[in-house]
Amino acid sequence: MTARIIDGRNVAAALLETIIRETAQFTQIHGRRPCLATVLVGDDPSSHTYVRMKRNRCAEVGMESRYVELPEETTTAALVAEIAALSADPTVDGILLQHPVPAHIDERAAFEAIAPAKDVDGVTMHSFAAMAFNERGFHSCTPGGILRLLDAYEVPLAGQHAVVVGRSPILGKPVGMLLLARDATVTYCHSRTRDLAEHVREADVVVAAVGRPELVRGEWIKDGAVVIDAGYNPGNVGDVDYASAAQRARLITPVPGGVGPMTIAVLLEQTLTAATSAGSD
Ligand code: NAP
Repeated sequence: MTARIIDGRNVAAALLETIIRETAQFTQIHGRRPCLATVLVGDDPSSHTYVRMKRNRCAEVGMESRYVELPEETTTAALVAEIAALSADPTVDGILLQHPVPAHIDERAAFEAIAPAKDVDGVTMHSFAAMAFNERGFHSCTPGGILRLLDAYEVPLAGQHAVVVGRSPILGKPVGMLLLARDATVTYCHSRTRDLAEHVREADVVVAAVGRPELVRGEWIKDGAVVIDAGYNPGNVGDVDYASAAQRARLITPVPGGVGPMTIAVLLEQTLTAATSAGSD
């Protein structure tokens, strides 16, 4: 079997089209554009690139972006105060704190200063709990994007065995919770898991979210499984050995062009939702 490719660029483009249309409607009705505030602390070049990309995408879909850039030596208290001010500002709909923040800052405290109604990146404990309890709330963007990809390709989840490799708070853990909410039987694997290959062999759906190039081998993939590779390693390499996995999978995401494009699309979709909810208060 040679796998069909899950085309994340295509699915993201369709989502962005809807966002552009609905953003224009929002702007017409409310006399202002939906606004995403991005907060960046320090000088990390890749963080600057990520924030620039997100701001450019805001402009492309007709949203406003507010940029807060703080020096490396910013204290936790100063960052919390800055984010709390954005949380209280009625002209700001969504808040994104680019992470990682410098090591001396309490990242959790900074995240928790984001008002839940503006947590469009899905990083607060409130949003995490909403995902865990299957209540309304914002998703972590990459996990939310993975679910949208699975839905776009009509992958059945109820009763299916999903194996998630990775348990980070922004990716592995929440994607497992979203899959569980859709009635999949979920196994989490991580760095202490014994015999990773045996777990992956059992999976109807594999989500690789590790950050280790080609850790998941093609021979581990069950014939006909669906493979989602969220990994993004230097040199455009994913966490799955794509060439060999594509020989056995039914559906597979490429890297790049699979999960990646969905993350920003979900961020913008959730910013629009935040704006619309605020507008209806
Ligand atoms: P992370 O915080 O470093 O977490 C990595 C996870 O992988 C941890 O749970 C770790 O286990 C587990 N792990 C490490 N080595 C392992 C091994 N040998 N076997 C099994 N599990 C192992 O990384 P992350 O932020 O979740 O990101 C993971 C990957 O996704 C990275 O490549 C990142 O670039 C990519 N990513 C992509 C997007 C996107 O938009 N496409 C967004 C976010 C992240 P422990 O918990 O035991 O340490």
